[in-house]
Amino acid sequence: MDDSQLLRYSRQIMLPQIGIEGQERLCNSKVLIIGLGGLGSPVAMYLAAAGVGQLRLCDFDIVDISNLQRQIIHNNDDIGKLKVESAREKLLALNPLVKIIPIAQRLENDDLLEQVKQVDVVLDCSDNLPTRFSINAACVKTQTPLVSGAAIRMEGQITVFLNDTNSPCYRCLYPSDVDLTETCSQTGILAPMVGLIGSLQALEAMKIIMAVGNTLTGQLLLVDGLSMDINQLKLTKNLNCSVCCKL
Ligand SMILES: [Zn+2]
Repeated sequence: MDDSQLLRYSRQIMLPQIGIEGQERLCNSKVLIIGLGGLGSPVAMYLAAAGVGQLRLCDFDIVDISNLQRQIIHNNDDIGKLKVESAREKLLALNPLVKIIPIAQRLENDDLLEQVKQVDVVLDCSDNLPTRFSINAACVKTQTPLVSGAAIRMEGQITVFLNDTNSPCYRCLYPSDVDLTETCSQTGILAPMVGLIGSLQALEAMKIIMAVGNTLTGQLLLVDGLSMDINQLKLTKNLNCSVCCKL
């Protein structure tokens, strides 16, 4: 690590839990972010600023004017651009040391599995249940840690799946195939909720990479932004889970 890197990351290197070793872990890490919208914006910006070595950005969508209220990585000038291209420009402007790999497609099956195999941590910043199930299945199969966040209206939730053999997976939480997810376009969202949950996702990913602290493994953190009630639910492994218990 050279002097400019030491200076750039000095405020986190000075934390005793992190130090040079933690920073080197971050610099050597590879992360896959699926979805560059409301959650993916703060996730990508914080991980790039913190010096994560490689960010793989996956989103097939294009920036729309209705995104700008909450998807803060995109600007007015980006309307009509691919979200991954818009995000890449902002992240490189923020930290040119980070390697950005844009993937402008909907990742499925083997393509998704291939991408998940390349990284240390996956961040699910998507907005629909079928995508979440596919990401979960790929992470379970490859035993890749998954940081899962969601927000709608003024509510948010976040959890971590380590995908070792003992901990629950996303499918343990939602065993049914019925798509109950509502999307922001249908129900609305107050932007700081995705900012909050996305920031927590970035924090959990950094802790996993640096192996510090306790993550939200086996715990679902629920935030009600209207009442400011914050609760944690314990998640247990579903021994009949169709994904993680048929290995
Ligand atoms: Zn499971």
